Amino acid sequence: MSYKAVNPFNGKTIREFPDATDAEVDQALKKANHFYHAAKNQPISERAAQLEKLANEFSEHNEKYARFLTTNMGKLISQARSEVKKNVEFAMYYVKNGAQALQPVPYNNIPGKEAHVEFSSIGTIMSVEPWNFPYTQIMRVFAPNFIIGNPVILKHASIVPECAQAFEDACKTAGIPEGAFKNLFINYDQVNHIIADTRVQGVALTGSENAGRKIAAEAGKNLKKSTMELGGTDVSIILNDADLKTAVEGTVAARLNNSGQVCTAAKRYIVQSGIYADFLAGIIDEFSKRRLGDPLDERTTLGPLSSRSAQQNLHQQVKKILAGGAKILWGDPELPQGPGALFNPLIISGMTLDNPMYDTELFGPVAQVYKADTEEDILKIANHSNYGLGGAVYSKDAEHAKHIASQVETGQVAINQPLSSYPELPFGGVKNSGYGRELSDMGIREFVNAKTILN
Ligand code: NAP
Repeated sequence: MSYKAVNPFNGKTIREFPDATDAEVDQALKKANHFYHAAKNQPISERAAQLEKLANEFSEHNEKYARFLTTNMGKLISQARSEVKKNVEFAMYYVKNGAQALQPVPYNNIPGKEAHVEFSSIGTIMSVEPWNFPYTQIMRVFAPNFIIGNPVILKHASIVPECAQAFEDACKTAGIPEGAFKNLFINYDQVNHIIADTRVQGVALTGSENAGRKIAAEAGKNLKKSTMELGGTDVSIILNDADLKTAVEGTVAARLNNSGQVCTAAKRYIVQSGIYADFLAGIIDEFSKRRLGDPLDERTTLGPLSSRSAQQNLHQQVKKILAGGAKILWGDPELPQGPGALFNPLIISGMTLDNPMYDTELFGPVAQVYKADTEEDILKIANHSNYGLGGAVYSKDAEHAKHIASQVETGQVAINQPLSSYPELPFGGVKNSGYGRELSDMGIREFVNAKTILN
């Protein structure tokens, strides 16, 4: 059985789930297609009411759903509760705004003619999701597509099966119609089989660049539209005139939240020379306050990585970074003893372009610090990356910070705050961080037939 929940704090197996059979896959495709056709005759308001019930289910049983997150992938219980809350916010955004975002758009720009574009469902969406935000990653795809009338089949990461099962159970409890959402414990070949099926018209992946290349290729081969929400090596730029406290608190949170396992985490701090020493002292102080331990213990402020293999992988990456000439500014690079996946937070400097690990996404509590004199140098370092997901700029001059933000080659940049996802705002990347947008009105129009009617 490849889908197994193992508590990453103590290494104990919680539960294993049987692999889905090909017959179950075919059955899921059949039921999804049935929902797709049935939903064409159902007003959006009915699905919005059903989605609200799903939001209520998560809201009313926050603790139950939060514990699956913490025990399956090690998220601090406080952050798990926040994820369940955010899951509700994502759903409620589409409950309230979904229908409006699908209103026809008039194009009366041809003399003597009238035209409009209307938006309708296209078919089943194959959704492949990662373990780092097990519920909200599903909701980002499910909520808008449910409002449109596109059924969603989910392949979740194999280490968070209880979260995948819990989401499906929540859908059943809330009365989401059969076929609208189905979690399947499937392998990569079965994912490819689903992508190739003619009833499937879209593929949404959130995951690594490596998975993106493979799944986007399958989608392309079958002429299916896809969205790719992939990794990043996001920068936090701290200018000389930044408010030190705001910059330290924001950047440390952006690096250590979720034990550093966030696509838009602040993986590279680029600090202007005039504030470098104070900033460094500030982040060392904050990093050293973190208490590593059991994510279910409310006193813990840094939980384990998601799995033992994630821990081993990051450990090897750090060794290669150091062998490539970088230095540890603060922290212990040795792994903590024990059966779990704890990882000591680290601050690294001296990463150079010729380091073989330059531009590698470090998915854990490892910050890299760069010092730069001029804004030109800062932007050169920031944009010397094949990724382009997010970033942040810290300066007391917000207008100037916006000017810098415009020159960072990513899909989103926050000013004087850690980058976060809001249901109201588009979320996505450029370059090897992928393509397409989730959330907001842009997210709901990714998998639609935008049909022009000309009169
Ligand atoms: P991953 O290894 O790429 O896995 C993501 C999902 O893809 C999992 O469900 C995985 O299944 C599946 N998968 C991988 N290769 C596949 C293939 N060839 N065919 C079918 N399915 C395949 O990524 P991860 O380690 O779970 O997540 C971390 C990555 O996600 C990081 O790079 C992070 O930056 C990125 N991320 C991006 C965003 C964003 O919005 N841009 C948000 C969150 C995370 P298995 O678990 O069974 O291997």
